[in-house]
Amino acid sequence: MSADCLFCKIVAGTIPSTQVYSDEEFYAFRDINPGAPTHVLIVPRAHIANITDVSAQDAPLVGRMFLRANEIAEQEGLTKNGFRYVLNYGPWAGQSVFHIHLHILGGRPMAWPPG
Ligand code: 5GP
Ligand code: ZN
Repeated sequence: MSADCLFCKIVAGTIPSTQVYSDEEFYAFRDINPGAPTHVLIVPRAHIANITDVSAQDAPLVGRMFLRANEIAEQEGLTKNGFRYVLNYGPWAGQSVFHIHLHILGGRPMAWPPG
């Protein structure tokens, strides 16, 4: 846990959120400012600041994050029409929270290329 990290506080329950999924490794919740009808964030409970910080040791955790995200996409009814995963890194991608999080976006057609 990183003391001044927003998503560590959400994982710990110090800051409230709308839970979508929870287990010993991951927590998923609804984005406070949804970019699509369905916008879920899944985060590892362990604090890792950036996707570029992931070590070989962390790689299986990141793999399992996608397995859990796939289950959430199914539960949220997104797999029939399709959906999008987004992982922002750095200022040009608009990263604003420095605890890795996978965006699960769906419920409407997605434009390509992304903005
Ligand atoms: P990033 O831009 O870093 O990839 O994404 C951060 C996301 O966290 C944004 O989509 C933003 O709306 C969401 N977010 C920021 N603060 C909160 C919060 O307090 N609660 C929830 N549920 N989402 C948040
Ligand atoms: Zn954190």
